[in-house]
Amino acid sequence: MTAEIISGKELALKIRENLKRKIEESSAHPKLAVILAGHDGASEIYVKNKQKAAAEVGIETELFLFEDDVSQNELENLIDRLNQDKTVNGILLQLPLPEGLDSAALLKRIDYQKDVDGFHPYNIGLLQNGDETAVVAATPKGVLRMLKETNIPLEGKNALVIGRSVIVGKPASMLLLKENCTVTTAHSHTQNLKEICQRADVVVAACGQPKMIKKDWIKKGAVVIDVGTTRVDGKLYGDVDFDEVKDVASYITPVPGGVGPMTIAMLLENTLEAYFKQHP
Ligand code: NDP
Repeated sequence: MTAEIISGKELALKIRENLKRKIEESSAHPKLAVILAGHDGASEIYVKNKQKAAAEVGIETELFLFEDDVSQNELENLIDRLNQDKTVNGILLQLPLPEGLDSAALLKRIDYQKDVDGFHPYNIGLLQNGDETAVVAATPKGVLRMLKETNIPLEGKNALVIGRSVIVGKPASMLLLKENCTVTTAHSHTQNLKEICQRADVVVAACGQPKMIKKDWIKKGAVVIDVGTTRVDGKLYGDVDFDEVKDVASYITPVPGGVGPMTIAMLLENTLEAYFKQHP
């Protein structure tokens, strides 16, 4: 068996074209405020990519740059101002923040209706309740969209999510539960992970351990979504050993070109949805 590759790159392109058309047809003016504090190299690249993708579909971005020594108070004041600003529909606080800053408190301060990252406790609560109005974090939302667009049956399936972070693992587990999967959420303390993985029909790997998941971990015909991205000597690796696993899985996502491009597309979609909710 050679797995069919789910191209996040191609799907993301279609989604972005669709968003662009919607924005043009509705004469919408969505605007995303991006807060970048400090000089984390990866964050600077992510922010640049997000701004470029936003501009391509017609979403305006405004970047608020701060040095490493920015205070909690300064960021709180900016968030308060952006919450009030009716021309701003989404607020993105790029993580990680410089040491000493309380990111949880800042994320909570963002108006949940402008929380396009879906990290606000209110949106997390809505997702937990299975509420359709929840803003869902871009990466797990992208994972679900890939499964749906590929018409992969989820009901009653054994799904394994490896990772329990607030931004990927936990919301991915919630989304799969909502689809009536039987979900196992694994983490660094999980015992016998390989055996658990061998029973899974759907595997979502989000643990940041390059090539950890091997061919003999995967049930024949399972669907494998690789969220992991780890750079080793300049090259990007997923959590799944793609070359091996593609021979046993039925569907697999590549790294790069899988979940990554979907994450950006979902952020843009969340921003446009926020705009329309604010302009009913
Ligand atoms: P975190 O570091 O916050 O979480 C990693 C999770 O994996 C934790 O729950 C941790 O367990 C678990 N874990 C670590 N090692 C193991 C192991 N050996 N076995 C089982 N579980 C393990 O990472 P994120 O959730 O933020 O990101 C996960 C991966 O996804 C990273 O590679 C990241 O770069 C990538 N990513 C990719 C995105 C994309 O757009 N493609 C977007 C966001 C993330 P514990 O809780 O016990 O510590």
